[in-house]
Amino acid sequence: MTLQRKLAILADAAKYDASCASSGTSKRSSVGGAGIGSTEGSGICHSYAPDGRCISLLKILLTNFCQYDCLYCVNRVSSNVPRARFTVQEVVDLTLDFYRRNCIEGLFLSSGIIQNPDYTMEQVVEVARTLREDHDFRGYIHLKTIPDASPELLRRAGLYADRLSINVELPTDQGLATLAPEKDGAAIRRSMANLRVHIDDARGAARDAAAVSVVSMPTSMPRRAAAPKFAPAGQSTQMIVGADATDDRTILSTSANLYGAYRLRRVYYSAFSPIPDASSSLPLAAPPMVREHRLYQADWLMRFYGFAHDEIVPPAAPGDSAGGGMLSLDVDPKLAWALAHRDRFPVDLNAAPREMLLRVPGLGVKAVERLLMARRVRRLRSDDLKRLHVPLKKVMAFVEVADHRPGHALEAADLAARLKPVPVQASLFSA
Ligand code: SF4
Repeated sequence: MTLQRKLAILADAAKYDASCASSGTSKRSSVGGAGIGSTEGSGICHSYAPDGRCISLLKILLTNFCQYDCLYCVNRVSSNVPRARFTVQEVVDLTLDFYRRNCIEGLFLSSGIIQNPDYTMEQVVEVARTLREDHDFRGYIHLKTIPDASPELLRRAGLYADRLSINVELPTDQGLATLAPEKDGAAIRRSMANLRVHIDDARGAARDAAAVSVVSMPTSMPRRAAAPKFAPAGQSTQMIVGADATDDRTILSTSANLYGAYRLRRVYYSAFSPIPDASSSLPLAAPPMVREHRLYQADWLMRFYGFAHDEIVPPAAPGDSAGGGMLSLDVDPKLAWALAHRDRFPVDLNAAPREMLLRVPGLGVKAVERLLMARRVRRLRSDDLKRLHVPLKKVMAFVEVADHRPGHALEAADLAARLKPVPVQASLFSA
């Protein structure tokens, strides 16, 4: 099979993996002629999958042969798809080739499970080792680790990769047992805990190294001893949404637990994609993409806006089959929360604490910081909000400033309808 054909199969097989963002790693550069690549963005060509996801990394599987039979996966052993397998050297050559041609900013490598988890993980690690040690590759590397691989292999993976991820796949252990019976939720969490220990140790060592005074020789630049690095961009995971009946409240609860227990950098939500010859246990249609989007917004509220997971989505009432436990698809989760908690508004922008400002629909973290700075020197008025580019239509019903009080606007029965974004017909020809 030609390399091009393998690439077509194995890049296509990797497209279902959403967790490929390249944020948060340490800076490396080849300026000065040493090494190849850099983790900075200049000259990188970004491309997008049809659903809008960034695929600026060379995102491939080492192989789509897999001995497991996860029902939601197109690569499962019982799936009737063309199969291919790269050698380690082929992946290394492709990465360097694409990088030199400025098509990618790094590599995202995952794999189906062949022979056994350790054998597969060894091959994945060997790709990263060869790139780093033999070619001094300084681009971004994200390795998808194989659940159940040995702790020693996970440790080695972290020495070469910027980011490691282990997919929890489904929001509940029960879902995993039904749809991916060979996967073990407890083993996945053990691997995550293992990575967390290594990441914490490396960060602790970096802090200790930074605290040591700088040593300088008379003829050299002052330098600190470099602390060992382990997956500097941390670990992440991915959850498939809509493959089973788990509601959004449960999904956010699982995410909150993962962030808290394993200090994950990101949980990625991937709307289930129907696959050919799928099992009858799976839904026939994909969930609306907007559900995935709402989960990302809710996730953002938990990480940056001080919302607890269980206050974002109301629990389902007993016997409720119409939207209980689910995020609204019509309005974003912060606006939905504000509409459901009107008694907490209006918020006085001249006096309210930061935590409450962050709960005002339409005010992002940056806008809140700017408001806090501005109100130190003057009493805020409506014109100040305009100058700060705050979305007035969304914000004004929920706030008061020196020259504005919303009065009874908050009680209006049609408030939700008025604040709901107006659908815009996309144009093929606009810029
Ligand atoms: S182990 Fe991974 S590649 Fe294999 S069937 Fe399950 S999800 Fe697919």
